[in-house]
Amino acid sequence: MKKEYYEVLGVSRSATKDDIKKAYRKLALQFHPDKNPDNKDAEEHFKEVNEAYEVLSNDDKRRRYDQFGHAGVGSSAASGGGQQAGGADINDIFSAFSDMFSGNRRGGGSPFGFEDAVGGGGGRRGRASVGIQGTDLKIRLKLTLEEIAKGVEKTLKIKKQVTCTVCNGTGSKTGVTESCPTCHGAGEVRQVSKTMFGQFVNIAACPTCGGEGRTIKERCTACYGEGIKLGEVTVKVTVPSGVEDGNYITLRAQGNAGPRGGEAGNLIVVLEEVPHELFSRNGHDVVYALAVSFADLVLGTKVEVPTLEGAVKLTIPPSTQPETMLRIPGLGIGHLKGGGKGDQYVKVNVYVPKDISHHDKELLKDIQKSPGLSPTAHNDKEAKGFFEKARGIFS
Ligand SMILES: [Zn+2]
Ligand SMILES: [Zn+2]
Repeated sequence: MKKEYYEVLGVSRSATKDDIKKAYRKLALQFHPDKNPDNKDAEEHFKEVNEAYEVLSNDDKRRRYDQFGHAGVGSSAASGGGQQAGGADINDIFSAFSDMFSGNRRGGGSPFGFEDAVGGGGGRRGRASVGIQGTDLKIRLKLTLEEIAKGVEKTLKIKKQVTCTVCNGTGSKTGVTESCPTCHGAGEVRQVSKTMFGQFVNIAACPTCGGEGRTIKERCTACYGEGIKLGEVTVKVTVPSGVEDGNYITLRAQGNAGPRGGEAGNLIVVLEEVPHELFSRNGHDVVYALAVSFADLVLGTKVEVPTLEGAVKLTIPPSTQPETMLRIPGLGIGHLKGGGKGDQYVKVNVYVPKDISHHDKELLKDIQKSPGLSPTAHNDKEAKGFFEKARGIFS
């Protein structure tokens, strides 16, 4: 199993670009082969970290990864396994690695930015933002096969926690928050307890501010000091063609707003394919079942069949066997990664009426008596082979 990229970098799915960069630097330094000579494990790790960073630092790749996992970014090492699967030469990785840091550096200095990676000391806990992180929101989105075939843009109305407009999300009536008097903004307190075993220092979330580092003097009355309230918003989501039931799309920071100015969570749109009344789906192909009369199968005919893009004329050639799959190219489902479409297959079968008139009964009796229409009259190997082949396609 290939490791989750977020896991490799040790960041959450809602991590900002900055978080990702920081995590990458730290790990890259830790596992850099210069620091771990002749250590195969470290080298493996270093490659893993680089691969994860390459995807997560690129907005486009990250979006595809969120949506479709490793398959969405088609990474060169996607096959995982023990051996290194093809792909990037380690020297390429190194040059990309140092480029990244030298880009940030004005001349001189360590190419790997030690000072950044180690962190500038001080009391901050690396909390970049205020408030509390909002929660992720998951919704289901039903899609018809027609929508999946071409891709679709949907406008969704969702109920969620939104920023309180009265206090601008601060939770404070006056709009002013102040550094917590108990922890002085650190968000955590040190408690020293003396016991018979010695002195213990315990670091805990500040009880006054709950770890936020800031307090409110006068609470906003509209949101009771939370900075958020229930609201309804419209969200646009672009669904590419070729998605499958259970795929999901992550809309970053479109989930619940965070209390008191915290970062919003993500909105996760889980896709659901509504079964079609006419077609069944087989990957990128759609299958339509068609029944015609025995005479039509033997003599051949032209019929009109529905497709996802409207009715088309289809020729049923003479001597078509039951369960033959006739292909209509290009009328299937668009491929996920652009370029190309699946086909429509028409599975032809013989229609057997349940109820027939006296006249038709007499007609069929004649047919029944006609020796040329019975299989015993033929040793039709070719037809038999065709029949077997057609059955094999989707059985
Ligand atoms: Zn408010
Ligand atoms: Zn505090």
